[in-house]
Amino acid sequence: MSMTPALNLGSSIHPDGVANDARIAYFSMEIALHPAMPTYSGGLGILAGDMIRAAADRELPMVAVTLLHRKGYFYQTIDASGWQTENAVEWIVEDFVQALPQRTAVTIEGRTVALRAWRYDVRGCTGAVVPVYLLDTDLPDNGEWDRTLTHWLYGGDPHYRLCQEVVLGMGGVTMLRALGHDGLQRFHMNEGHASLLPIALLDEHAKRAGRTSFTHEDIEEVRRHCVFTTHTPVPAGHDRFPTELINQVLGREETAAMKDVLLWDDYLNMTYLALNLSYYVNGVAKKHAEVLRQMFAQYRIDAITNGVHAVTWTSPAFQALFDQHIPGWREENFTLRYALGIPPHEVWRAHDQAKRQLLDHVNRVTNVGMDARDLTIGFARRDATYKRGDLIFLDLERLKRISADVGRFQIIYAGKAHPQDQEGKELIQRIFQARDALKLQVKIAYLPNYDWPLAQLMTAGVDVWLNTPEPPLEASGTSGMKAALNGVPSLSILDGWWLEGCIEGVTGWAIGDLTSPANMGEDQSPHDAAALYDKLERVIVPLFYSDQERFIDVMRHAIALNGSFFNTQRMVLQYVTKAYLR
Ligand SMILES: *Cc1c(COP(=O)(O)O)cnc(C)c1O
Repeated sequence: MSMTPALNLGSSIHPDGVANDARIAYFSMEIALHPAMPTYSGGLGILAGDMIRAAADRELPMVAVTLLHRKGYFYQTIDASGWQTENAVEWIVEDFVQALPQRTAVTIEGRTVALRAWRYDVRGCTGAVVPVYLLDTDLPDNGEWDRTLTHWLYGGDPHYRLCQEVVLGMGGVTMLRALGHDGLQRFHMNEGHASLLPIALLDEHAKRAGRTSFTHEDIEEVRRHCVFTTHTPVPAGHDRFPTELINQVLGREETAAMKDVLLWDDYLNMTYLALNLSYYVNGVAKKHAEVLRQMFAQYRIDAITNGVHAVTWTSPAFQALFDQHIPGWREENFTLRYALGIPPHEVWRAHDQAKRQLLDHVNRVTNVGMDARDLTIGFARRDATYKRGDLIFLDLERLKRISADVGRFQIIYAGKAHPQDQEGKELIQRIFQARDALKLQVKIAYLPNYDWPLAQLMTAGVDVWLNTPEPPLEASGTSGMKAALNGVPSLSILDGWWLEGCIEGVTGWAIGDLTSPANMGEDQSPHDAAALYDKLERVIVPLFYSDQERFIDVMRHAIALNGSFFNTQRMVLQYVTKAYLR
């Protein structure tokens, strides 16, 4: 048993940012720092940003590292047929981040690639700051291609991606040293994109010992400082690179030695690299950790269920309501449990404000003429096929009947498909086709360019938040947590966080149950769609129109039971006690 050195959390970061006291470095390929900075693509980046916002609230001695992403992920436009086009995002870097004078470098394919960093301060509720360093290779010293390395988030081919990961993982460590961060004791890799980080730490060890290659002892030492969080059970989410590409890009003599100690063959799998070099590894929900333990049986994998930053994701109307009835909820999110005592009509009024704001936006942008009295369902997330955004359209006749016979409903969609995900783009097209086919019976809007502000508007403004992933592929899911904070219950497949958050008819509703899944290998979708229609027809639509009091009671329980728990304040404390202080 190796002992992990004690972590001193005593020295917090002060308002003027005495950052050299930092003990924890958090590395993430994407971080959502500001609604107008396109430095994230979706859930992973939002989660990273919410984690850092919570760390700043708690005055944790943390710094974070990411890339600048000058051209962002992409700006989505969708044509009349539902086909997505990606456009570069223009943003003025200097308006948001502060240039730092330090310069450092990484070696890529034998070339020296110069690096600079920009600083963004995340300020918590007490004024404490967690500085975030955004790495940038767009310097005159660098060649044309190297200058683009920090331009596009998840752009380019595997070669480009690997070079970006060198910049993040290895360049991040050298930049932190150049900035004077010598007291760091924990290095947290948020997903495998940062897995080269421990290689940089190994280099430091070897260099300090006067060696040019590292040893098993170095590896043991580095492991004692590294934490790894993995976010998906979907294979495409786990980067792997052919060994020739690794050799070409890293171009180092000790690659053979690394191969011996780090156990890889024809491919270097970035997830295995991080698993091998971390003393603490976690998945992002209890079920997700279970799935990971099956995928990576030889590793010890813990669970820390995701959360969202409560203040960031609570609409102005509910912020005012909570300020009035639950003073202190911003500092102590668990006091949201007292939402059960807020008078029902006040909950409804706050929700109505958020709903009108959303529907005004929808009607302005899409001219669909949605009615604020109608039950409004929201669905927004990455358009990956396993998320099954079109599950609800499997039986259009049944949908029409429910709307005509039981009660009217309307659906608001949003989401981006990855530029190279052809099937994801076709999924958007199918949603457009269903929209047109249902035109007279069920109003459907697809809002383009799903991003942070749109997610705020949507998760707060609909009446029910829908999620229909193919189990067990939803690692956690977080948008349902944002909805819960705004009194919006979820209707969701039992997977990811909803297995923990769903109390049937109390905090929301499950689609199907765990006792009657289809047989293994069988397509689950018809079964799940039928369960979805049943729940809408027999429970949710009648409840919404005929028993508003009980519907509001579900809304209050969504806040009290789920909003009070599925937040990053609870999550970050679990990282401190389970990972950082271990
Ligand atoms: C919260 C969020 C996501 C992630 O939603 P999931 O439910 O976890 O899939 C993606 N994109 C944006 C803009 C978000 O705000």
